[in-house]
Amino acid sequence: MTAADEKRVVDAVPKGLFIGGKWRDSAVGATLGVEDPSTEQSLCAVADGTAEDAVAALDAACDAAEAWAATPPRDRGEILRRTYELMNARIDDLALLMTLEMGKPLAESRAEIAYASDFIRWFSEQAVRIDGRYSMNPSGAGRLLTMKQPIGPCLLITPWNFPTAMGTRKIGPALAAGCTVVVKPAQQTPLSMLALAELLTEAGLPGGVLNVITSSSASRVTEPLFDDARLRKMSFTGSTPVGKKLMAMASKRLIKCSMELGGNAPFVVFADADIEHAVDQAVIAKMRNGGESCVAANRFHVHESVAEEFSARLAERLAAMPVGRGTDDGVLVGPLIDATQRDKVAELVDDAVGKGAGVLTGGKKVGDRGHFFAPTVLSGIAPGTELLREEIFGPVAAVATFATDDEAIAAANNTEYGLVGYVFTKDIGRAFRVTEALEVGMLGLNRGLVSNAAAPFGGIKESGFGREGGPEGIEEYLATKYVALDL
Ligand code: NAP
Repeated sequence: MTAADEKRVVDAVPKGLFIGGKWRDSAVGATLGVEDPSTEQSLCAVADGTAEDAVAALDAACDAAEAWAATPPRDRGEILRRTYELMNARIDDLALLMTLEMGKPLAESRAEIAYASDFIRWFSEQAVRIDGRYSMNPSGAGRLLTMKQPIGPCLLITPWNFPTAMGTRKIGPALAAGCTVVVKPAQQTPLSMLALAELLTEAGLPGGVLNVITSSSASRVTEPLFDDARLRKMSFTGSTPVGKKLMAMASKRLIKCSMELGGNAPFVVFADADIEHAVDQAVIAKMRNGGESCVAANRFHVHESVAEEFSARLAERLAAMPVGRGTDDGVLVGPLIDATQRDKVAELVDDAVGKGAGVLTGGKKVGDRGHFFAPTVLSGIAPGTELLREEIFGPVAAVATFATDDEAIAAANNTEYGLVGYVFTKDIGRAFRVTEALEVGMLGLNRGLVSNAAAPFGGIKESGFGREGGPEGIEEYLATKYVALDL
């Protein structure tokens, strides 16, 4: 990629707020800078939305709601389908844009655009499958009818780690269900969402159905919406502490919430597992998105008889992963999103080493510019080490050992989170016992990747509730109405 390509894709993105089908400046003319985390250089500035802008976006979503709900499901699906096709036709530019603002290597950005577009395709197909039920009253007198209707205007709040996919997992089902939306992307990665808004418009989405508010203050633009009786639904992907704050706000008017929150995934390797395969999958589960993923393997619990071999092989693989700017050829690990995140990862590593962990590879920051951290494998993690408890969100694999199945299950469940777990064993009985015992919303059985538009993604415990993807995904945006029929 040349500097000219980089400039071209950044210049091509509209930098305003997208409200009612039009691009406009913030009400006070303010802007918000966007930075490349590899270089710490400014890429551009986008509109810095105000409370007034956010209310204008909700006004637009409300004005468009009735007509969009009445738009034939087939037509809604066709607009989504065209968006899917446009995303894939423009995948090179969209991927470059994502790499510039978020840092991940180009191949991973391409994979995210493909994954993100898959949600749009899946829900283009689900738009025509919204159904209801008709049954006889058990007493025989009368009939029971249920129908599903769009829940109404939604607020969608997304994080920076998957700037497009975390949006399409919400936008796809909301639009398919017949809801209109206000999207608030993360302030560090607004460009991917602005580019997506443009593609949806090109695909024929009427003005006001999707509105995008970028802002340097998330609370400034979201709080007024929680106080507005017209908002009916909020879907959030982000950290658990922010999720709790938003739920408290949503409780004032009992706004329906979906919460896709933090994770602390255990990756459990039993003695009978295929170790080579487990290492291959560990590389994916740990290093996808540089570890900045809610489903990243956070803790490796490995049977004591194979821990040394597993750790050594994993260290060899991670040590061979080139770190650098995501636009450069051959790079497999980009920077972390910012200095705060990189420093947090460094502190977690220092804490583990202070408590006796061995560093098999990495363990330190890389370079003077950009927020790089070396792929790291730590062995001999002691109970009570912070990174067993905290979401690392970086390229650090921490290996602890266990002796019995019960010990492995107890260690895996020893967290307030419950998003995903990974289990490696060739014993089918053990596989099912452990699968049933793990307190998670998703589980990879001999697999290090679970994400799939056709499957229900989501957690339990403090990882949240609600599901994105699969047949379940659209239900989050539908209200059930029951009709008692007296014939
Ligand atoms: P975050 O700080 O919670 O932010 C997520 C989004 O919420 C951003 O758009 C942010 O805006 C906004 N926000 C922050 N404070 C807010 C407030 N008081 N009111 C309204 N909105 C607010 O999370 P993050 O650091 O961007 O993302 C990492 C977290 O997301 C991790 O915990 C990760 O596990 C989780 N995650 C979960 C899933 C899942 O599906 N379960 C998927 C991906 C990520 P600003 O950018 O302006 O701060």
